[in-house]
Amino acid sequence: MALKDIVGNEGAIRLLKMACAKGKVAHAYAFCGPAHVGKRTTAVQFAKALNCLNQVADGEGVDSCDICQSCKHIDSGTSLDVQVITPTAHQDEHEEVRALSIRVDNMRRMRSDAMLSARHSRFKVYIIDDAELATEEAANCILKTLEEPAHNVVIILITTNQMALPRTVISRCQVVRFGLVPAHKITEALVNRFGMESYAATLCAKLSKGRPGLAFAFAKSESIKDTINEAKRLLEHIIVAEPVEVIKLSERIIALGASLSKILPSSSADAAEPERKHALRGIDTLLGCIRDNLAILCGMQAEHTMTHFAEEAPKQHIVHYEPRCLIRLTEALMKARRALMLNANVQLTLEVSLLRYVYANGRN
Ligand SMILES: [Zn+2]
Repeated sequence: MALKDIVGNEGAIRLLKMACAKGKVAHAYAFCGPAHVGKRTTAVQFAKALNCLNQVADGEGVDSCDICQSCKHIDSGTSLDVQVITPTAHQDEHEEVRALSIRVDNMRRMRSDAMLSARHSRFKVYIIDDAELATEEAANCILKTLEEPAHNVVIILITTNQMALPRTVISRCQVVRFGLVPAHKITEALVNRFGMESYAATLCAKLSKGRPGLAFAFAKSESIKDTINEAKRLLEHIIVAEPVEVIKLSERIIALGASLSKILPSSSADAAEPERKHALRGIDTLLGCIRDNLAILCGMQAEHTMTHFAEEAPKQHIVHYEPRCLIRLTEALMKARRALMLNANVQLTLEVSLLRYVYANGRN
């Protein structure tokens, strides 16, 4: 692939192609935006365009040829001049929690390597993924490298949280913003790139909520339909649940999130407690199903909802829930979500939220 194949974020892509064409390449970039929208892929494709032996000019600037020796080396990760640095896991001082971070030793190695001239390419490119996870020492080392920019060295910091990076670092970078991608563009890419049927492509695009990286992961998965159908069955059970069932249902919410986690690409958030992550993903999927049901109640055609596409025989399976039940359950799940984000006990939070919903329902 090349820069032209990135799905969405056309403004960012145009800016990078122009920089290649005009030779006005910044010493450092900060690619900022939500996770899974293509920041890292774009960084690698930009490195290819900078170093391509047969650069291709188009109306917007310069792109890579994708087939020369340099492009192939970068694609396979064997180029000595283009490095992707990712956070590594380590234990904290109590040797309990495994956290991911960009370590200072990695940054020192990058700094001394950046002093040497490129081996085979025009530019040496260092891509630092999840740069906000740099330790204080590592961030200082990045700052020193940015303060004394070496010739033909490009550093690309990738972050989902620009505010978590020191201002002194960001101010030395050209900030390139990335955003969510419209569903129809993701659908189109899935049909053209994966040869998917359009209904399946639409499902993956809707589930990804504007994140092509997730949509591609869904597209490769065979179990996505089963997962969505389990979410719908679980919603049916929760809506009419009795108090005695809440422990089992809480476990099913966590299991639902766990099966989604198997499909989704790993990210820095994976260092968090797995049960909490699964619970949050389970809740989000249920909220998606509820949103579909509310949309149908508000007059939207079932064919346009996310979960419709997972059904074998959708029309026979539309359940019409009481709107007040859906609203109460949404409130209970949102409350649980907030508590889980604040580190509340996972199982207890889910059980109490479901009980609150069940008892509130019983009063009417
Ligand atoms: Zn090339």
